[in-house]
Amino acid sequence: MCTYLSIPAGLVLTLYPVMIIRRENVGNRHRYQALGKYIMDSRVVLVTGGARGIGLGIVKAFARVGCKVMIADLGLESEGEWNYGLSNKDAMDSAGELGEVASCGLDVTDQASCESAVKATIDRFGQLDILINNAGVVQSGPVIDFSEADWDRVFAVNTKGIFLMTKAAIPALGKSGDAAIVNTASIAGKKGHANMSAYCGSKFAAVGITQSLAFELAPMGIRVNAICPGIVGTAMWLEHLMPMNTTDTEEKTQTFETNVSQQIPLGRPQSVEDMGEAAVYLATAKNVTGIALSVSGGIEMN
Ligand code: NAD
Repeated sequence: MCTYLSIPAGLVLTLYPVMIIRRENVGNRHRYQALGKYIMDSRVVLVTGGARGIGLGIVKAFARVGCKVMIADLGLESEGEWNYGLSNKDAMDSAGELGEVASCGLDVTDQASCESAVKATIDRFGQLDILINNAGVVQSGPVIDFSEADWDRVFAVNTKGIFLMTKAAIPALGKSGDAAIVNTASIAGKKGHANMSAYCGSKFAAVGITQSLAFELAPMGIRVNAICPGIVGTAMWLEHLMPMNTTDTEEKTQTFETNVSQQIPLGRPQSVEDMGEAAVYLATAKNVTGIALSVSGGIEMN
């Protein structure tokens, strides 16, 4: 938000309970900006799959606006057998520099592990206000060759994971008074694609679960929304969906951007920062529940 008012320099003004504006000098004018940091200051966020990629982008976005953030990820306690690996501790070092960030191991496919992650968050930060169900895996290929184990794994992480984490978090979220759940679905949850039956099916389910939970949890003051990312250059794309014959990360990213940009109305792939911004919006939008917000540069408009 930007307004131009005449207020003495340095004065911090509370407009209404959650919004504070501060004066900055811009040329010969004074600019007043909402300071997100203060808006979100006392909130506690748990991000599943938060140790790398989109999850880490979301962690950083919440840390930047002053939230306390728990990163919960399978990669923090076990090396991945999954085809393109899991995160590791190194991937999340950068988040700690932005604010109060802690981490714990989590397997979203395991009920006891989900309950432990919620407990670890409350033990560390005293409460839980925002749950980001972001952990996800992809596997692609024609159904005729697709193994039952891969099918089960995709649904276990992308769909059952939302159920188990939400179930574990509801008691704490119900005490918050202003709670939100944000599920990372996908534009693949709005339109089917060849060779993506398991992944698309799991993400359509994520959108359906989001709508059902939005109805069910509204009386408890818990809003439930989903982000549908477009195409983000994480390990999911660079190492699985668009593998390349190079280990040079810069070269990979450049090739990815060139290939993807042509398909996107706004002319560029999406970034993890775009997803962080959307997650913070959905967690703070007080009268928004049950939506599946495409953040896709226009590639998906429904
Ligand atoms: P990523 O592989 O970089 O990150 C996924 C994270 O989830 C990793 O840190 C991994 O360790 C963790 N994880 C995997 N299985 C887990 C489990 N059982 N329990 C806990 N953590 C687990 O992928 P990403 O691209 O950052 O994807 C994040 C989310 O965004 C996923 O739900 C994905 O389906 C979704 N998404 C991604 C894109 C994209 O273009 N990258 C597009 C649409 C949706």
